[in-house]
Amino acid sequence: MRVLAIGECMAELAPAETAGRFALGFAGDTFNTAWYLTKIMPTAEVSYFTAIGTDTLSQDLKNFMDASGLQSKHVQIIPDRTLGLYMITLTDGERSFTYWRGQSAARALAADPEALIKAMDAADLIYFSGITLAILDQASKDTLVAAARAARAAGKTIAFDPNLRPRLWTSTDRMTETIMEAAAVSDIVLPSYEDEADWFGDATPGGTLQRYLDVGASCVVVKNGPAPVLYSCDGAQGEIAITPVESVVDTTAAGDSFNAGLLAGRAATQDIAKGIASGAALARWVVSNKGALVPMDAFTLPV
Ligand code: AMP
Repeated sequence: MRVLAIGECMAELAPAETAGRFALGFAGDTFNTAWYLTKIMPTAEVSYFTAIGTDTLSQDLKNFMDASGLQSKHVQIIPDRTLGLYMITLTDGERSFTYWRGQSAARALAADPEALIKAMDAADLIYFSGITLAILDQASKDTLVAAARAARAAGKTIAFDPNLRPRLWTSTDRMTETIMEAAAVSDIVLPSYEDEADWFGDATPGGTLQRYLDVGASCVVVKNGPAPVLYSCDGAQGEIAITPVESVVDTTAAGDSFNAGLLAGRAATQDIAKGIASGAALARWVVSNKGALVPMDAFTLPV
């Protein structure tokens, strides 16, 4: 299977052991999913579609991708831009995030529609998120949604995580409208109930599920932290219990890794319940470890 994930990877400065020191890493929602897919689906070709600069930090990301087995052939180079950056600060054990991403190269990732269409043509599964859309200007948002619509019509599978981040949008109305437009061109929609309740006002996970089915998604899986996952997928429906982690270490990338486990598990078995079990197992592993991209040597997929 050929997977194309589309979005922004940022440089991450995370607190090191010594106070006041920081360790450099790379992360971003769609990037995290793509990275986990390379780990759990070694036979798949996983490419990341983004834009970076020509500076050393951008090159470091490319090197990191190459070392991870994540294909960088669809990474565009924009000479006068660089990566977005975020810093994690810890106050009494609570993490807070500061971002510098207003001018990141990734904001121009869909400026060249031809590049996007070419990359999608070479993929079987295309994955993007509400954050991918949020960072783009209006013309590029339209380009991405139109390209996804055309790719779906050409028989590709489109997977979309709404990943609602109102601070990245000019208004919540713009966010909710655009998210529904993107969901309407997607086969698989992977929302998290807590965010959906906050910004769409859904009273229940079932409300979230139905809203995305109504615009034409064939497979909707509603994540809900340690609460059961609700799904309706190509005629199969149900709820799958999550085994809660007793002491959560870090919930960063829980949803991103769940999506990777689900997409890999479903592709391997053609069975949504097994896909969800894989997603839940991977997310469980990820929330039991520190950081967005956690060590994977000791993890095996339960399918
Ligand atoms: P969320 O995006 O917060 O709804 O979480 C995504 C997925 O991460 C959930 O569907 C669960 O599979 C997993 N997850 C999140 N929190 C926990 C937890 N405390 N224990 C086990 N799994 C969790």
